[in-house]
Amino acid sequence: RKGTVIITGASSGLGLATAKSLAETGKWHIIMACRDFLKAEKAAKSVGMSKENYTIMHLDLSSLDSVRQFVDNFKRSNRPLDVLVCNAAVYQPTAREPSFTADGFELSVGTNHLGHFLLSRLLLDDMKQSDYPSKRLIIVGSITGNTNTLAGNVPPKANLGDVRGLQGGLNGLNTSSMIDGGDFDGAKAYKDSKVCNMLTMQEFHRRYHEDTGITFASLYPGCIATTGLFREHIPLFRLLFPTFQKYVTKGFVSEEEAGKRLAQVVSDPSLTKSGVYWSWNKDSASFENQLSQEASDADKARKVWEISEKLVGLS
Ligand code: NDP
Repeated sequence: RKGTVIITGASSGLGLATAKSLAETGKWHIIMACRDFLKAEKAAKSVGMSKENYTIMHLDLSSLDSVRQFVDNFKRSNRPLDVLVCNAAVYQPTAREPSFTADGFELSVGTNHLGHFLLSRLLLDDMKQSDYPSKRLIIVGSITGNTNTLAGNVPPKANLGDVRGLQGGLNGLNTSSMIDGGDFDGAKAYKDSKVCNMLTMQEFHRRYHEDTGITFASLYPGCIATTGLFREHIPLFRLLFPTFQKYVTKGFVSEEEAGKRLAQVVSDPSLTKSGVYWSWNKDSASFENQLSQEASDADKARKVWEISEKLVGLS
């Protein structure tokens, strides 16, 4: 049978390129989990995906109700779940004030981390039940969360501190909107959310890999300087960034190439190792990358996991 893969944020950028790449193999049915139905439909058409290879299902990760509703809808579809890709993200580098999810969490961490945390926890049982030979849960990471790399050292750096802000619920009222309890910084909030993504992947691996056989993985697909992620950046930045990445840092990858990389993590028979953060070298060959000290801190991973469970109502 065909594999079933859910991809969040498949309406643009990396998610769309991955959906296209998997659809072309004819071996996958893609559930495009998107907040804007029409945009997703147009996107699927624009890259030539044929109807029998995808279904669009509504998901707004900035609302825990919507996440629960999505999970119910998916269960009702009676499809098995073989692979889940947590890809969607918001990035607000120029925001001066925080904005908030429906549940009152700062938007970047609330969407990128907490929304996906609830989604993957609620779908884990479906993955356990699937008889697919290589089940995988993939959470897209980022180099910006790795302070052990040059790009990860561009300020403001990711830093979760003692997670006092997360503990307080990131609501910006009685506590800070930032995980470390500091002043709001949109670029840092995004990087912090990516560190949470990478910590969550490893905590999943520690808690569930042995019992379930599910492969848990994260990746840095390269710098895809052309995606919508940078839509809120200042125009001059958007104009110069792709060129800068191409010629100066040489980290630039096209959306198509990045999509092929994520599609490998979904389906390549050689990428089944669990607990790995994949990256690609200059020749587009995959390798197991090192995470920064904070992004591989097992105590912090457990702490973030336990606090996140409380915030999304799982404990
Ligand atoms: P895009 O902005 O193109 O894609 C982000 C996707 O997330 C869009 O489909 C967007 O939906 C969706 N999304 C945003 N908010 C929500 C929400 N509340 N509910 C549901 N979906 C939502 O960016 P990229 O493709 O670049 O980013 C994809 C992933 O790749 C992210 O995890 C990012 O961190 C990661 N990444 C990107 C890099 C880059 O250089 N671009 C580098 C490394 C990692 P909509 O279309 O409706 O806006």
